[in-house]
Amino acid sequence: MLTRVKSAVASLMGGMMTADAEHFGGGGGSDLPLRFPYGRPEFLGLSPDEVECSADHVARPILILKESSRLPWATGYAEVINAGKSSLNEDQACCEVMAVKPRPTGSATPNQTSAARRRSSLPNGEGLGLRDNLDSSEGVTFHYWALFDGHAGSGAAVVASRLLHHHIARHLQEVVDVLRNPALLPPTCLGEEPVNNHHHHHHHHLTPTSQRALTRAASLRGAAGAPGSPSTPPVRFFTEKKVSHESLVVGAIENAFKDMDSQIGKEKMIYNISGGCTALVVIFLLGKLYVGNAGDSRAVIIRAGEVIPVSREFTPESERQRLQFLAYMQPYLLGNDFTHLEFPRRVQRKEVGKKMLYRDFTMSGWAYKTMENEDLKFPLVFGEGKKARVLATIGVTRGLGDHDLKVHDSNIYIKPFLSCFPEVKVYPLAQCDHDADDVLVLGTDGLWDVLSNQEVAEAVTCFLANCDPDDQHRYTMAAQDLVMRARGVLRDRGWRISDDRLGSGDDISVYIIPLMHGNRET
Ligand code: MG
Repeated sequence: MLTRVKSAVASLMGGMMTADAEHFGGGGGSDLPLRFPYGRPEFLGLSPDEVECSADHVARPILILKESSRLPWATGYAEVINAGKSSLNEDQACCEVMAVKPRPTGSATPNQTSAARRRSSLPNGEGLGLRDNLDSSEGVTFHYWALFDGHAGSGAAVVASRLLHHHIARHLQEVVDVLRNPALLPPTCLGEEPVNNHHHHHHHHLTPTSQRALTRAASLRGAAGAPGSPSTPPVRFFTEKKVSHESLVVGAIENAFKDMDSQIGKEKMIYNISGGCTALVVIFLLGKLYVGNAGDSRAVIIRAGEVIPVSREFTPESERQRLQFLAYMQPYLLGNDFTHLEFPRRVQRKEVGKKMLYRDFTMSGWAYKTMENEDLKFPLVFGEGKKARVLATIGVTRGLGDHDLKVHDSNIYIKPFLSCFPEVKVYPLAQCDHDADDVLVLGTDGLWDVLSNQEVAEAVTCFLANCDPDDQHRYTMAAQDLVMRARGVLRDRGWRISDDRLGSGDDISVYIIPLMHGNRET
């Protein structure tokens, strides 16, 4: 165990950015077939030769969306591979316009799982989006942008980039009929009939379900409780939480992430799906932007040059209390090697019996306690900033995959500490005025590690101001400029950016999504 912790600490201090496949298994050497071949995002339209050239860790060419190919809303995109920390670019991206049709009722077969049809990707997604609105009597369309940042292999990121939007479409299909009726609150129970359609005996033998149906019908008529009626149960039975349409979309996104994660877990039995990945998704549906984040990518809106953060990062530091509480409740998850308490540094044997600073899951501040032998174990959460790790292994605490990731040379699984659930924030885009220079920037941590929100906002605002406002390629050029500013240029002692700071050695992927289009399309 001592050796194991020493080697874990060595890699911690060595500044390794993430766990990699050689050290943590879970992919390398698998005899199973790949679920999907490795590649770069479909919308880049790269040839196999170009994919190979893109993996040049020395030249680090910045790939951009070709002028001939277009994403919805003239979205811009650019990416670059890392400086050698993994042989492949473990970032992945996906952008689609999806149509969600209501599931046929009555004759539908139970195993009919073909959810929404993919309506369009390339080229001219925008034009199709317009046409979709015309036949929207049948359903709804949503726009989808996603970034995935893989670790310990590219498998999970590739699979998630190919499949997550289908899970989202399937879950939205469940609620599409409700969403298309914004005037009505979502019914608590689907398939409820208006009260006057019920058979006579329902009025005499109220089941809990038909009671709710009554409530529903009564509240729709604006007469909840119907005080004078002798057959009406007391009002307290009618208490029902009102659920918004918006939260149905949030729930659909959350459950889609859960299904994607368990699909990866199951398919690992028959396919080689290496590693895990973070996921940042943006969905535009019925006038609103939904930003779902599980991991350390980031989304910010830049409006009139000002930054509006629309996501939060999930890291060992930001999720320390959740992780510590889990370990406190289920200590066997730590094996015999870790303690759920946090200390500012490792406790030394000679310090047992002395008072030292610590904090538990109940604390955001620090306090002193007398050290015991138990406190000599390695802390569950250890390290600061980009070097913070859970179980000395992983620097991100939410995402998809990682089902077989273990602490180096042990039988301690990391997965129980990782959450696959995104935090979803909602931005009412159609209600806000935006001009052509207002954008939503999505970036993997490779961008945000070296550039602050403010630096990104200034760079983008300045770049767009100097572009022809009618040039639809301007958002891709702005994305290329951002990736360049984060990667820097190669000097004798490595990649350097402005003020001689170190450039990002990580994979960097950036979308720049103009927001004025959201005002027109709903
Ligand atoms: Mg990264």
